[in-house]
Amino acid sequence: MIIKSEAIALKITPFSETSRVVLWLTRDHGKIATIIKGAQRRRSPFVGQVDLFYTCELLFYLRLFRGLHIVKECFCLKPREPMRSRWRAAACASYFADLVGRISPRYAPHPELFRLLDMALDYFAEQAALELGLFWFELKLMKAMGLAPQLKECLRCHRPLQETETFSTERASAGKAREAAVFSWARGGVLCQVCAPLSRAAEAERATPITPDILALLRFWQASRSWRSALRLSCTPRQTRELERILGLFLQHHLEVSAPARAMAFTALRMPLSP
Ligand SMILES: [Zn+2]
Repeated sequence: MIIKSEAIALKITPFSETSRVVLWLTRDHGKIATIIKGAQRRRSPFVGQVDLFYTCELLFYLRLFRGLHIVKECFCLKPREPMRSRWRAAACASYFADLVGRISPRYAPHPELFRLLDMALDYFAEQAALELGLFWFELKLMKAMGLAPQLKECLRCHRPLQETETFSTERASAGKAREAAVFSWARGGVLCQVCAPLSRAAEAERATPITPDILALLRFWQASRSWRSALRLSCTPRQTRELERILGLFLQHHLEVSAPARAMAFTALRMPLSP
């Protein structure tokens, strides 16, 4: 059966001297692996049409349960040229492609995930404020996977959370940390300052205090619909590190993947711009 779908190239590996195996996230068929025969031949029609992070129109023979699908035609729709010279953006794109490649089941269409990745790659090819965009992507990815953290009300008593009642670093230094609200990455949300002490034993290994500014940032991004709104904020170095830590704990627990590509993306983002 011949299938046509838009697809994003997540991973490319050599198969032989001239052929390549490409892992794709397709719009209509989820994650699939294909072989592109003769992709590296000089006169191949695939030259210039396939590369990492490209969005392509793909025509392939679907061979369910019989190994790799064979690509018949591939036409590049979005090459995202700036990504080739912007190594910070390329590090983030590698992380996104790696993460999506790990969490997407094969042959399970997920148009929202496809749209999110496509939009993220567009954004990272063109924009500069990458750290904030990276957090925004992670929150939207969790939502697309049905795993959005509960940030509006307490997980235990269901009272709406007031940002002023979350953990305060001044209080902690004054020895009153027991009044802190906590973010439980295992349960996927926040416990208010009344409930946090009651759940302390159960949550000891799986929760961390959350400061009001961090909660506010997460809530803002969770509610926002576009990259433009993610860029309206700015974060201090402490805030970006805290967001990286909290979202990292949450992602690792719920998606059950460890992502060295994530650590590499953050390392790349923090390197100075020129030597
Ligand atoms: Zn509560």
